[in-house]
Amino acid sequence: MCNFFQMNNHSLEQGLEFVKGIGPQRVDLLRKELAIYTFGDLLGHIPFRYVDKTKFHHIRDIQPDDDAVQLRGILREVELLGEGKGKRLQAKFRDQTGVIKLVWFQGITFMEKSLQIGAEYIAYGKPQFFRDEASIVHPELEIVPKNTTAAETLPTTMEPVYHTTEMMKKRLCDSKGVRKMVQALFQKLTPEYIPENLTSELLRKFKFISRYQAYKLIHFPSNEAELHAARKRLKFEELFFMQLRLLQLRGKRDENIRGIQFLKVGDYFNDFYKNQLPFELTDAQKKVMREIRRDLGSGKQMNRLIQGDVGSGKTVVALMAMLLALDNNTQACLMAPTEILAQQHYEGISALLKNSPVKIALLTGSTKTKARREIHAGIESGNLHILIGTHALIEDTVVFNYLGLAVIDEQHRFGVAQRASLWKKNSTSTQIERGNYPPHVLVMSATPIPRTLAMTLYGDLDVSVIDQLPPGRKPIETMHKYDTQRERVYGFIREEISKGRQAYIVYPLIEENEKLDLASLMQGYEDVQSYFPMPDYQISILHGKMKPADKEFEMQRFVKGETQIMVATTVIEVGVNVPNASIMVIENTERFGLAQLHQLRGRVGRGAEQSFCILMSSFKLSQEGKFRIETMVRTTDGFQIAEADMTLRGAGNIEGTQQSGVLNLKIADLTKDGEILRVAREFAAEIVANDLHLEKPENAPMRQFLEAANKQTRGWAKIS
Ligand code: ADP
Ligand code: MG
Repeated sequence: MCNFFQMNNHSLEQGLEFVKGIGPQRVDLLRKELAIYTFGDLLGHIPFRYVDKTKFHHIRDIQPDDDAVQLRGILREVELLGEGKGKRLQAKFRDQTGVIKLVWFQGITFMEKSLQIGAEYIAYGKPQFFRDEASIVHPELEIVPKNTTAAETLPTTMEPVYHTTEMMKKRLCDSKGVRKMVQALFQKLTPEYIPENLTSELLRKFKFISRYQAYKLIHFPSNEAELHAARKRLKFEELFFMQLRLLQLRGKRDENIRGIQFLKVGDYFNDFYKNQLPFELTDAQKKVMREIRRDLGSGKQMNRLIQGDVGSGKTVVALMAMLLALDNNTQACLMAPTEILAQQHYEGISALLKNSPVKIALLTGSTKTKARREIHAGIESGNLHILIGTHALIEDTVVFNYLGLAVIDEQHRFGVAQRASLWKKNSTSTQIERGNYPPHVLVMSATPIPRTLAMTLYGDLDVSVIDQLPPGRKPIETMHKYDTQRERVYGFIREEISKGRQAYIVYPLIEENEKLDLASLMQGYEDVQSYFPMPDYQISILHGKMKPADKEFEMQRFVKGETQIMVATTVIEVGVNVPNASIMVIENTERFGLAQLHQLRGRVGRGAEQSFCILMSSFKLSQEGKFRIETMVRTTDGFQIAEADMTLRGAGNIEGTQQSGVLNLKIADLTKDGEILRVAREFAAEIVANDLHLEKPENAPMRQFLEAANKQTRGWAKIS
């Protein structure tokens, strides 16, 4: 009899209750504690480290950076040493190559009784070094039974160590318990369960082991080489399919979604470019402009990211793209994440367009009802050309006559969904008349992110980089000073003020610590005031607890040059543009993250004068704090700083990555696996270019894998 159920039932989607050796209680525990439901889930619960007890080390070869060593030798000279807290039991342990100390601080009485001097033991633990002498504190110790050689007792595979939870440990389901379950699972799994998902060409090219083999070895490797082979294959696979999805998404969008074709370069653009633009574009800006114009003329929808450091001149480029939209009888909008930023864009763009007939409006949460109604009407009728604002722009009540281009500043504070909601903003009547096209989308990001992260977060966008600052900017000079040198720092500020410049002094403000921080800000304010007394000096103060009107007042005094010093918390991070301010002093620098320090420093260096950034700290600095300060002093390149930041904190902790969902990586690590990612993307791009829908027979394994993964409701991040 042939059982139809079993015949095609090589699915990893089966629940773990179907594994012999995993009882109902464990099934329940795994579900509740680790959201592990299926064969596939458990298979994907990758060990986070391994204990290698497959071989013995020689005492002579022990190195200070060894993780843990397994030794085989004879126990000698057990003695009690020290008193009080220093009381300890110490034994000498000897193999053919040398001697090491084994030490116990706890369970001394029991150990003293049970240790058999002269017997052969296997000892395991992490070695420590003190004055070139090695010891192991609280080693695992096991006596070698008489008449066996120690080698006979060695396991043949490395021991996987799994993440578990407190609850699991309480229920006696620790790493060892999980290991037993994975072993039980592999009793059932045959290669049919884990079919190959890469083409044979890729397998050959990179000498990858099979997918089944890779999963088996990632859980139970016999040695480092096997572990390496398994990791290499699974990391590649993970990054490769992530890239394949992103690139397919982009390819399918290009294929299906036609965009409004901007064929004309008309008066709005030409007049601005020839008569209004107050400077020559940098080569980087020109290059990006060409890329945008190519997109806009292509008849496909543009989805482009402009990456460029603070001050690199993204806004002008975006404005020129908006003018092209106007030239082609459509409207444009610019969306910013905060009111301050929206306001600033509105003022900046209004100033640049002051001699042009373009009609611009600003729409934010605080726009008054009457003005709001007028704006809504103007946008719907088409009388208004450019709408600048916050997320108020994407409310349902905002209907454009015909939106041709949406610019989004500071991308990763907006979700992908918000980006997509801009697609459906046009009035029905014009859609009927002129076609139902989505607007072109241009995203501006001032937060430089590492290349690997960009490939992942923006993998479905085309990326343009403005990697050049406008001419005449002097690089900001950055230095590190200790709190004891504050007098001299103030003296320096005084000199600069006497030359007509302005200075920021920034204090940290962190939510958990709000009260203390506010107190230190006020203390700092008083110190600054006593060193820079009125009436010779005027000082602004700005912090998040102030009323918006007060903030605005203090801000304006500084902008107009009525105050010389601005004492503030990080509220000034975004959206402040005072070209005359040339000094940025940061207090308690070690409390700021790199991204934040970079943003803060970007507030100066906006004018023609030499600017300075002074990083203050106490002498007490953590390793990490020191590294951050050194990085800031070493470079002003936002991309290098972003790389350093990722090295420190890991890809998952970089701002904007959490909500994206694309970083649910199980094995690969963007911090370390950049090279694998690069190669994976290259191959994914090649495949998508030749066979977007994966219809060729040789690409069938990939197609089947993706189809199966798409059917799964859990597990895969929804990218779009
Ligand atoms: P970003 O948005 O990239 O931080 P902005 O577009 O706000 O930078 O530009 C910063 C400043 O530099 C603005 O005052 C802008 O007018 C000016 N600027 C932009 N491009 C140039 C250029 N090519 N030459 C001189 N100044 C420029
Ligand atoms: Mg900007």
